[in-house]
Amino acid sequence: MRIANNMNPSKELTFRESVDRMFDRAIDTMNLPLGLAEQIRCCNSCYQLKFGVKLGDHYEVFTGWRAVHSEHILPVKGGIRYADFANQDEVEALAALMTYKCAIVFIPFGGSKGALKINPRKYNEDELEKITRRFTQELAKRDLIHPSLNVPAPDMGTGEREMGWISDTYQGLFPQQASGMGCVTGKPVHLDGIQGRTEATGRGVQYGLREFFRHSEDVKRAKLDGSLEGKSIIIQGLGNVGYHAAKFLSQEDGAKIVTIIERDGAISSSNGLDVEAVKQYVIENRGVKGFPEAEFNENGAELLEAECDILIPAALEGVINQGNATKIKAPLIAEAANGPVTFAADEILREKGTVIIPDAYMNAGGVTVSYFEWVKNLARIRFGYLERRHEERRGQLIVDALEKMLDTAVPQNIRNQLVTGADELDLVRSGLDDTMRNAYNEIRNIFNSREKVVDLRTAAFVLAIERIAKKYESMGL
Ligand code: GLU
Repeated sequence: MRIANNMNPSKELTFRESVDRMFDRAIDTMNLPLGLAEQIRCCNSCYQLKFGVKLGDHYEVFTGWRAVHSEHILPVKGGIRYADFANQDEVEALAALMTYKCAIVFIPFGGSKGALKINPRKYNEDELEKITRRFTQELAKRDLIHPSLNVPAPDMGTGEREMGWISDTYQGLFPQQASGMGCVTGKPVHLDGIQGRTEATGRGVQYGLREFFRHSEDVKRAKLDGSLEGKSIIIQGLGNVGYHAAKFLSQEDGAKIVTIIERDGAISSSNGLDVEAVKQYVIENRGVKGFPEAEFNENGAELLEAECDILIPAALEGVINQGNATKIKAPLIAEAANGPVTFAADEILREKGTVIIPDAYMNAGGVTVSYFEWVKNLARIRFGYLERRHEERRGQLIVDALEKMLDTAVPQNIRNQLVTGADELDLVRSGLDDTMRNAYNEIRNIFNSREKVVDLRTAAFVLAIERIAKKYESMGL
């Protein structure tokens, strides 16, 4: 049964329908046993919770969800979002994307997602802590948080502070679990977190784009050439993902951030914006309006349609839709957000020849480093702890041998690299880089070798579905 194929294509679909239609496009190119596609596509369960919290002299009832999309591997994994627009359809769509994302980057998790319908800006820190701790208890009661069953992480509106509260609440409930801290990822480093998790999604966007630019045919298909150096980028959203992606791409790859779109409008500068300075300005002024030496436009969304080499939507879902897709000029879109391009817009853009690096691959850096954090928690040892000094001693031996054999000093920069063992951050970066490179190559191999696979998104879905299908077939389900 096709869930969404009979829907009116001219009407904008809901987020979940949109993800399902993208899934169906991949299924149409495959040969799965009858019924297996439906088994993979459907959301296994979605729990809605209502719980009251006493805030000062009154009570407030909150609504939250935890959707479990696919349990072909346990634990299931996915963030918890705090947003006043959160709803069940969105949570289910995001949970589905988590399933495909984990399969694409080949990390052993099923897909899940949670949300709390709340505007976090309306509450002070103490209130947020109380609400988060209560939400955790409600989830824990139902095994919707558990190191071997369901492991949340940060998402829009949440960060390491909330993950710290969640971890502490869970461990207070179950102190007998030796790896209880593995119940959630994205925790502060000093509270069982891992180096490099905060910036991981943005880093993943950088590594993914670097890999894309290593393939000149792919770059040419996007009507671009050369490397990231000097490429003009429009970025929407300077939250955790957008900020880190923009910062790394401009500071380390020489790309030019020509426009930043934020809640209150957009700022542009043809010379490139200083991402760090803009971020600081946004923190102090709650918006980009008035940022010196940049052009301000109150209608930020209009700037999605401006000329640039790469458009990076790093905020909300559905921002590129039927209403603006025909007007998008960027030849390359890197989806740092989840679901920024609707199904209808995706069709329009493909017709136009726009190349899209899809969300389930592009923003997988976060969950990849979450995986490292979870493994670290289960093992209760930091990465690099045992081997670092050993590596350094071996490096020193090589330097000594070279100097003796060649009778000349090894240059200082080479010596430093040889005698420095990898620490946790080095290893996290290496693992993330490897993951993003491998996954991109697998996606492009499918795209290049199968005629019916029309774009990178479909190829990414095919990659994910094949992996999940194999698992189900071996399980005998
Ligand atoms: N919320 C992030 C995402 O959408 C991270 C999920 C995780 O680390 O589990 O991918």
